[in-house]
Amino acid sequence: MKNASTLSKLTASVHAGSPGDPQFKGTVTPIFPSSAYDYEGIEGATMYPRYYNTPNNKAVAQKLAALENAEEGLVFSSGMAAILTSIFTVLRSGDHAIFQSDLYGGTHSAIVHELPRFGMTYTFVDGQNFEEAIRPETRLIYIETPSNPTLKITDIKAVAAIAKKHNLLTMIDNTFASPVNQNPIDLGIDIVAHSGTKYIGGHSDLCCGAVLSSKKLCAQIRDSALHFGGSLDAHTCWLVERSLKTIVLRVRQQNANAMAIAEFLANDEHVTRVYYPGLPNHPGHDIAKEQMPGGFGGMLSFELKGDAHVFMSRLRLIKRAISLGGVETTVTSPAKTSHVKMTAAERAAIGVSDQLIRLSVGIEDAQDLINDIKQAF
Ligand SMILES: *Cc1c(COP(=O)(O)O)cnc(C)c1O
Repeated sequence: MKNASTLSKLTASVHAGSPGDPQFKGTVTPIFPSSAYDYEGIEGATMYPRYYNTPNNKAVAQKLAALENAEEGLVFSSGMAAILTSIFTVLRSGDHAIFQSDLYGGTHSAIVHELPRFGMTYTFVDGQNFEEAIRPETRLIYIETPSNPTLKITDIKAVAAIAKKHNLLTMIDNTFASPVNQNPIDLGIDIVAHSGTKYIGGHSDLCCGAVLSSKKLCAQIRDSALHFGGSLDAHTCWLVERSLKTIVLRVRQQNANAMAIAEFLANDEHVTRVYYPGLPNHPGHDIAKEQMPGGFGGMLSFELKGDAHVFMSRLRLIKRAISLGGVETTVTSPAKTSHVKMTAAERAAIGVSDQLIRLSVGIEDAQDLINDIKQAF
């Protein structure tokens, strides 16, 4: 579908990018599993799964581009494939990059372990002091907001302005917000990455990633991506296209449920602290209100007075599980899961205590979820 960006999100989620079935006039895009296509290609380019140009891959890329107000997109086999392929496209040996300190644990680990092996240097920045960390060889500023697991809010517009002033590229991990709640390209960011394993897939049953950007940057990233080889197969692409048709409905329900649970927790005696950007006392609330017009998201964390492990094992409806963004509400201990690769000192520095509990709020009835938490207390 053309002019997808002029459609509202609800309409774009259903119609943008989906070619349907012109041959048999079916409603739904067929699965095109071919790995061998005529080299006299239909658009002058040979199709091949690893070239990111087969029909199911392109359908997902176009739908996501429409939802993120991006010119183009690339769909990968995981979030990490999307993130690292992009970083290794824009950085070269000798370059320096600035990263927000409060990052997804896997990204943090990848930076520390992979970048130095290729002669790239990095600085982790706490708070909003990105400009102070800029060096002559700096090329990229990378942020993640809301962050995992303490839902820290970084001012996207401010970071984009600093980067423009110093002629740097900007990249954001937009996984936690989802394309429904926050569209960083509108705020001046160059590259948006997603772990599609989370809200984009939305049903805890697939792994994928995506990058959304300008035509020019997507072409550069694709040139490296076809060397690194992290493309997504047709069957999973088809599932992602199906998932995206309900992303707006899912995320809106998750936003509403998370808000209700956050308000309940904030007023409960068993809880010492709640991290949710929708709460007026969250330090990033005002910025979040500006840059997350769709809602504050389905992720929240809280500190419990009692034993976190005992609390989690008493939950009946809410499942203990790593990952996030599914239709079912899940709970984790970040110190034991997403941030286990950090040292205890590194975890303490970003507020990840053993008492911290992270909820990924699903689409169930909010009162049923609150009742489950109450009985576990
Ligand atoms: C899960 C996650 C990733 C990594 O994505 P994979 O699909 O597991 O490779 C990156 N960033 C964030 C914020 C995540 O939650």
